[in-house]
Amino acid sequence: MANLIDLTLSDLVNKVKSKEISSKEITSTYIDRSKQSKKLNAYVEETFDRALKSSEKFDTKPDFKKKLPGIPLAVKDLFCTKNVKTTASSKILENFIPSYESTVTENLWNEGAILIGKLNCDEFAMGSSNETSHFGNVISPIDDNLVPGGSSGGSASALAAKLTPATIGTDTGGSIRQPASFTGIVGLKPTYGSCSRYGIVAFASSLDQAGPMTRDVKDCALMLEVMSSFDPKDSTSINFKRPNYSSNLNINIKGKKIGIPKEYRVDGMTSEIEKLWEKGKNYLKDCGAEIIDISLPHTNYALPAYYIVAPAEASSNLARYDGVKYGFRADGENLIDMYEKTRSQGFGDEVKRRIMIGTYVLSSGYYDAYYLKAQKVRKLIKNDFDNAFNKVDAILTPSTPSSAFKIGDKKDDPVSMYLNDIFTVPVNLAGLPGISIPAGLDKNNYPLGLQIIGKPFDEQGILDIAYSMEEKINFKLKTNDWWIK
Ligand code: GLN
Repeated sequence: MANLIDLTLSDLVNKVKSKEISSKEITSTYIDRSKQSKKLNAYVEETFDRALKSSEKFDTKPDFKKKLPGIPLAVKDLFCTKNVKTTASSKILENFIPSYESTVTENLWNEGAILIGKLNCDEFAMGSSNETSHFGNVISPIDDNLVPGGSSGGSASALAAKLTPATIGTDTGGSIRQPASFTGIVGLKPTYGSCSRYGIVAFASSLDQAGPMTRDVKDCALMLEVMSSFDPKDSTSINFKRPNYSSNLNINIKGKKIGIPKEYRVDGMTSEIEKLWEKGKNYLKDCGAEIIDISLPHTNYALPAYYIVAPAEASSNLARYDGVKYGFRADGENLIDMYEKTRSQGFGDEVKRRIMIGTYVLSSGYYDAYYLKAQKVRKLIKNDFDNAFNKVDAILTPSTPSSAFKIGDKKDDPVSMYLNDIFTVPVNLAGLPGISIPAGLDKNNYPLGLQIIGKPFDEQGILDIAYSMEEKINFKLKTNDWWIK
């Protein structure tokens, strides 16, 4: 048998079902490796003892009908986990222990998975490099001076370093797909309304979606199948028939029409990304797909619109952290003083920046000029996609304009940090599904990703395309475990 740690999630599931490995063996192997991997700073909370006990319990009375039988998983610390600290990587929630479970994580546990820990992320999921976390930045297993991307950087790093066989993240403007691209893994943002937002610490409610991050496309389909459900506890959850994505996976995409949007050829995109995109087109042609040039004319306005809508919603969502109801509280001379001190000491700089921008664009006098305008732009972006999808089945773009950057490189330049999301943000604004798959390496051997964008609820379609491309690309993630030695 191959090294346990090298097996995919789907392999692990099969081996548990055929009684070749026990849950305890898998769980203890992942825990040991996680313990040796502290340098990456991927975990903010470990639940190792609890997990070992749960795995023993599973092995005594195994239920092989479960989709994730006794499989250990670490998850982004934005998902509320009952009786387990949930911080959103913020000082303001440093000691917050939820009394309830998020629906998405509940779905995982219901299918037999076991929580091994909570993973670092950008504070309140605001960031593209995992440098805004109150618990320190996360390091990429690809290279010790690289960011893993953000905001689901702990998830990406833990997965690429094999500290968990699969994981989950959230994506408001790219936080699953961008770190997936930076670390050579697969990441999918589902259609808005596919995965319940109940129990996920809110950032921008009209954009936030949870999704899987995995080693390959098959695992991604399996995780999505477990995560996605209709949930009356989330008023934006959509009641549609969710297919069995993993058993439906179809490698034959002959005749599919794939759009190439000309507006995604942006300034500042490296020639390596340009080449990668070209290669992606050729892979698709080899798979029998038809390549069609398309236009998404309002692409240029997506980032500015996002950086109005997302902070606006964030400023409103984060108003609840006042030192009274949740987490951290600073002493004050009176109530207002306590609020002010709590919020100024409890939030980090990036979060404060978003709250200030958001409050500004929602204030009377500026609401029409900024917020309302941004909402109108959002609609135009959605229309662009609707028009494109009259002609094509899916759209192929790079996931990011460059490979992973160095720690500290963009930290003091928020605009250049925001530019990272240029290819991912439009997908959130339009509520569409998008998947990033590893597609090659740059000259430094850093991974590069390609993104496939689908029609609403056509997760199956983009998974199939990704599946067939994956076979052609044959990407192998190589890390030399430098952080363990
Ligand atoms: N990088 C983007 C931001 O900082 C997206 C974050 C996310 O998707 N959570 O807003």
